[in-house]
Amino acid sequence: MGTGARQDGLRRGPQVAEFEAAYARFAGVDHCVGVGNGTDAIELALRALGIGPGDECVLPANTFIATAEAVARTGATPVLVDCDLDTALIDVEAAAAAVTTRTRAVLPVDLYGQAAPVEKLRALIPANVAIVEDAAQSQGATRHGAVCGSLGDIAATSFYPGKNLGAYGDAGAVTTFRADLAERVRLLGAHGSPRKYEHTVVGFNSRLDTLQAVVLSAKLRRLADWNAARRVAADRYTALLSDVPGVITPVVAEGNVPVWHLYVVRVADRDTVLGKLHAAGIGAGIHYPTPVHLTGAFAALGHRAGAFPVSELLAGEILSLPLFPEITPAQQERVVAELAEAVRA
Ligand SMILES: *Cc1c(COP(=O)(O)O)cnc(C)c1O
Repeated sequence: MGTGARQDGLRRGPQVAEFEAAYARFAGVDHCVGVGNGTDAIELALRALGIGPGDECVLPANTFIATAEAVARTGATPVLVDCDLDTALIDVEAAAAAVTTRTRAVLPVDLYGQAAPVEKLRALIPANVAIVEDAAQSQGATRHGAVCGSLGDIAATSFYPGKNLGAYGDAGAVTTFRADLAERVRLLGAHGSPRKYEHTVVGFNSRLDTLQAVVLSAKLRRLADWNAARRVAADRYTALLSDVPGVITPVVAEGNVPVWHLYVVRVADRDTVLGKLHAAGIGAGIHYPTPVHLTGAFAALGHRAGAFPVSELLAGEILSLPLFPEITPAQQERVVAELAEAVRA
């Protein structure tokens, strides 16, 4: 056996194709291409659409930094817009207003595990502007019955270990109905090489490891159950918090069935409350403390504080409560008791 065959087996064995087929079925699309991580998945989706220098891509200011990084890495300009106060999802009217003749794509983010209102966005933007769904947090979530990852022209997801479907290391995927885009993603992510020793475009190395594909295939079989357990836990939090003054519980948009990647409440004086929860041993967090426009990385975009008031308001109030499929009712009651105490003080 040649060394090449052995190495290819580790990197792109039949297990990768098996997982890709299974994940395409899960997301309700025709094509899934496994890649190295979620950020690469977004970049590859954009590059498959031919997006690069001189182009603009519209995305929400309140997202994980990777959405903006992927745009910047193509050479295109990230154009930030604000979000909806209730759902924290992209403000579709603001997104439509930000579209110019240079705009090639809008990237709605299915933040915290619920779908962005993609069909509303579609109705507001020109047909030649693509929708690239950032579905890193929404594996298995649905909107009007359609699964996240299938809502736009092309979608990216991440199997980072902390996501709803997590590998044992970095991994990601692109999903789409379009064979031409899937083919292009595959080419770009494999050194621009359609066949061994042949390189037709300048690509890079972003492959899904065979080992991760094996892990992901095994875990994918259980994802629906895990997501269901998250829903039960989220509903329990919402019920327990209904009579806790000073805590705003998450709003689910009409038509959405979320998968609760994160359960995010809002409280005044958030940093004090978070400090008290941490002191009580509760692993609450903030997703995300700094909107993209106020990060050092994107200072060059030239936005000041106040540019995206809803994103900034949310950044100061949001608090992610511990939520995972195995969380017990007793653990949740303790979280709520500590939170109620912290908010009361
Ligand atoms: C995790 C995440 C990504 C990036 O995924 P990586 O696998 O860490 O590169 C992109 N967008 C969002 C919204 C994410 O949560």
